[in-house]
Amino acid sequence: MFCAIAAGRGAAHRLLEDEHTVSFLNIAPATLGHALVVPRRHAEGLWDLGDEELARVARAAGRVARLLRGALDPAGVILVHATGVAAWQSVFHFHLHVVPRYRADELQVMWHAAPVPDADLATLRARVLSANPS
Ligand SMILES: [Zn+2]
Repeated sequence: MFCAIAAGRGAAHRLLEDEHTVSFLNIAPATLGHALVVPRRHAEGLWDLGDEELARVARAAGRVARLLRGALDPAGVILVHATGVAAWQSVFHFHLHVVPRYRADELQVMWHAAPVPDADLATLRARVLSANPS
């Protein structure tokens, strides 16, 4: 579905387009104005995007957020992305959600945030960095 939209064939309520990205309204919005940004080139998830392509998507998301702010006056905005079924990805063409937030909307945080010991963070940091030498 997003492949066709990204290629310019699929129907969508497009907000912005450029050479590398397409932004359009989500057909099943979480809030008023919930939009999606996709790269034109097919990429399944975050791990399939290069730095420049991701930067282009982020730039488009910023533009969409400003468009929505000007039109809908939300109290805030969140950007959401999911890569992989475990992360609740359901459409396998990379997409970044731009979700305007309103004071009375019904969205809730997706996780329970609880602090962990500093030593655990230090161990985790060492594990991540040692597995990915620069
Ligand atoms: Zn695709």
